[in-house]
Amino acid sequence: EELRERIGQLVRSVPDFPQPGIVFRDLSGVFADADGLQDMASAIIAEVPSEVELIAGLDARGFIVGATVAARLGVGFVPVRKAGKLPPPTRSQTYDLEYGTATFEVRDNAVKAGQRVLIVDDLLATGGTARAAGSLLRQCGAQLLGYSFLVELTGLAGRESLVDDPDAGGVPVH
Ligand code: 5GP
Repeated sequence: EELRERIGQLVRSVPDFPQPGIVFRDLSGVFADADGLQDMASAIIAEVPSEVELIAGLDARGFIVGATVAARLGVGFVPVRKAGKLPPPTRSQTYDLEYGTATFEVRDNAVKAGQRVLIVDDLLATGGTARAAGSLLRQCGAQLLGYSFLVELTGLAGRESLVDDPDAGGVPVH
């Protein structure tokens, strides 16, 4: 609760960004603060399953959160990137956005068969981003342990959509 309070003070709500009517939660103040960065990792690590072997972070703020957590845990990190950034061979998964689609890619042999993977991102909104990453990592052979987010926007049912997804779900969302 104390961690939550301290981290919350570093999160800024920006109205009408990136579009009118959207309130963007800006976490850059958490990342820029020495204690904030440690608190962020501590808050996530408090709920991480102990058998985790690899952290997968989602482009782009999930790289900051996920790599910080991985370094603290002493496990590896794999970036799940927007299409066109990684050299081949890659595996990809296209997913729906509010307007249009996007594609995620990971290095083809980034995950060993059966490796226990936790997906980490800064924020859960509708869950579409995390669902695409979960299903992609499972296609790569990962044993998906669950998902961890620093912030959850409740009311968008992202958690439910993730838990119930036939390809990406059935695992805990922290
Ligand atoms: P979803 O796919 O769950 O709707 O959206 C989550 C993804 O969009 C995450 O990768 C997250 O970084 C980004 N995102 C959506 N809304 C916000 C926001 O208000 N603040 C931040 N920092 N990221 C957001």
